[in-house]
Amino acid sequence: TPNEAFRNEPFVNFALEENKQAMLAAIAKVKARLGREYPLHIGAEKIVTEAKIKSINPGNVDEVIGYVSKADQALAEQAMQTALATFETWKKVPVAERAEYLFKAAAIMRERKHEFSAMMVLEAGKNYAEADADTAEAIDFMEFYAREMLRLAATNEHQPLTPVAGEDNKLTYIPLGVGIVIPPWNFPLAICVGMSTAAIVSGNTILLKPASTTPVIAHMFVELMEEVGLPAGVLNFVPGSGAEVGDYLTTHPKTRFVSFTGSKEIGLRISRLAADTAPGQIWIKRLVAEMGGKDGIVVDETADLDAAAQAIVASAFGFQGQKCSAGSRAFIVESVYEEVVEKVAALTKQIQSGLPEQNFAAGPVIDQGSYDKILGYIEIGKNEGRLIAGGGKAEGNGYYIQPTVFADVDGKARIMQEEIFGPVLALGKAKDWREAIEVYNDTEFGLTGAFFSKDEGRIEEALETMHCGNLYVNRKCTGALVGAHPFGGFNMSGTDSKAGGYDYLLLFTQAKMTSRKL
Ligand code: GLU
Repeated sequence: TPNEAFRNEPFVNFALEENKQAMLAAIAKVKARLGREYPLHIGAEKIVTEAKIKSINPGNVDEVIGYVSKADQALAEQAMQTALATFETWKKVPVAERAEYLFKAAAIMRERKHEFSAMMVLEAGKNYAEADADTAEAIDFMEFYAREMLRLAATNEHQPLTPVAGEDNKLTYIPLGVGIVIPPWNFPLAICVGMSTAAIVSGNTILLKPASTTPVIAHMFVELMEEVGLPAGVLNFVPGSGAEVGDYLTTHPKTRFVSFTGSKEIGLRISRLAADTAPGQIWIKRLVAEMGGKDGIVVDETADLDAAAQAIVASAFGFQGQKCSAGSRAFIVESVYEEVVEKVAALTKQIQSGLPEQNFAAGPVIDQGSYDKILGYIEIGKNEGRLIAGGGKAEGNGYYIQPTVFADVDGKARIMQEEIFGPVLALGKAKDWREAIEVYNDTEFGLTGAFFSKDEGRIEEALETMHCGNLYVNRKCTGALVGAHPFGGFNMSGTDSKAGGYDYLLLFTQAKMTSRKL
C-alpha cells in the first residue's frame, strides 16, 4: 500500500517444487489461450484490423502466441485525437487517484505473477527466473512511480524553495501532453509497464506501440489497466510497423514527447525525426531514449577468480545476452588471464540449451533477424579471436544459438565494439588493471560495467574511472533493481535517463512556478 515504503518484489525460488508446479500450471493456462486475436485499443473502442502481427514462440516457431491487430496511419491519427482529447480530463485527475490505478494494477499483477511470467516464457523465450524477474520489475516500477508521483506532488518536498517574506512560492510538476511510448521486446513486460506507467501517472496520455515480437504480453498489461478502471483514452494500444506508425507519430505536430527503449540505430533515427518541427507544432519534443550497450567486466589479479568467472558468464548469457546491460566483453589482467579464460569456458560449456517452458538455462534468441545477425557475428569472431566455447547453431525448433566465447580478442575488434545482442562473449588480455579499464572505456556506449578486485585503492579508482551509468563492484553487471540501482547509461546508450530512479518522472513533467504576493 502507498503508506509503506517501497521495497522490491522478491524473486520466486524455482528450486522449490511447489513454485515450479505453479509455473507449469500457469504455462498450461496460458497455452490454452494461444492463437487468439487481439484488438487495438483506442479510447473505449476495440478495433480489429485485417492486417495482423503474428506473434510466435521463438523457442518453438510453429506455435502461434497470438494475432495482433495492426494500426495504419489513419488509426494512428484516430488514437492521437483520442489521446489529445483525453489529456484535457486526465491532467486534472488528482495525483492520488492517478497513483491508485498503479497500486491496484501492481497488486493484481502480484497475485497473477506466474501467468504474466508464463506468457513471457512462451512469447519471448525467457526461462522461469528471467521471466519472473521481468514480472517482479514490472510490479516494482508501478509501486515505485506511484510513490514518486505522490512525492513530486507534495509541495516543496522535491525542491524546497528559498523563503521570501511576503510571498507564497510554489513549484508544481505538471504533465507534458501526449506521448508515444515505444518499448523493447527484451523486457517485454517490465520496461513496457515502466515506460507506460511513468508517463501516465505523471498525468500524460499515451500511445503505446509495443514491440512487434512481443505484442501479446503488452496486451495483457493493457487489459490489466482496463481491469483496474484506468479511464479510456489514457492508454491507447497501437501496434504497428515502425516505418509506418512509428515515424508518423514521431513526426506528428501534436506529439509532445517520445519515450523509446531499443537499439542505437532506431534511437538515433527517432532523435532525428523528433528534432524537426512540423507545421503547427508549438514545442520542442522531448525524447527519452534508452539505447544499446557494449558492457564489460574488468578482472584484476587480486580478484576472487571463481566469482569473477561466474559473473562474466551470468552477465554474458542471461536471457541469451539479449539485455542492453549484458556483459559481452571482459578484460582480464595478464597474470590470471589463462586461468579465468579456462573457468569461463568450462562454465559456458555447462549451460544447457532448450525449450524455455522446460526451464533450460539457455533458450532461443528472439527472431530470424537476430538469429542471422548473431550467427554473422560469430563468423566475424572466428577471424578476430580464439573460439573457446560454442560457435554456432544449437538444437531445437527455434532460434537457438550456442553460448559462444572468443578469447584473445583485441579491444578494437568488431565483436568488442559492436552491440551483438546475443550469446556472444569476447575476452581480452590486459597488461595491468589500469590498461584493462582503458580498453573497457574504449567504446561509444556507457551503460553497465563491473570491476573485480580485492584491492581497496584500485576499487576506489575504478569507481571513478570506469565511465558508465551502472557500475558494479565484485558482482555481475546485469539485474539492476528498481529504486536501488537507477538504470541508464551515457553516450550512445541513450539520453542519460535513469529508469527506476528519483529523477525519472521529471522527464515526463514540466515544473510550473507560482509566486503569490501575500
Ligand atoms: N535493467 C536491466 C538490467 O539491469 C537491463 C534492461 C535492458 O536490457 O534494457 O539487467
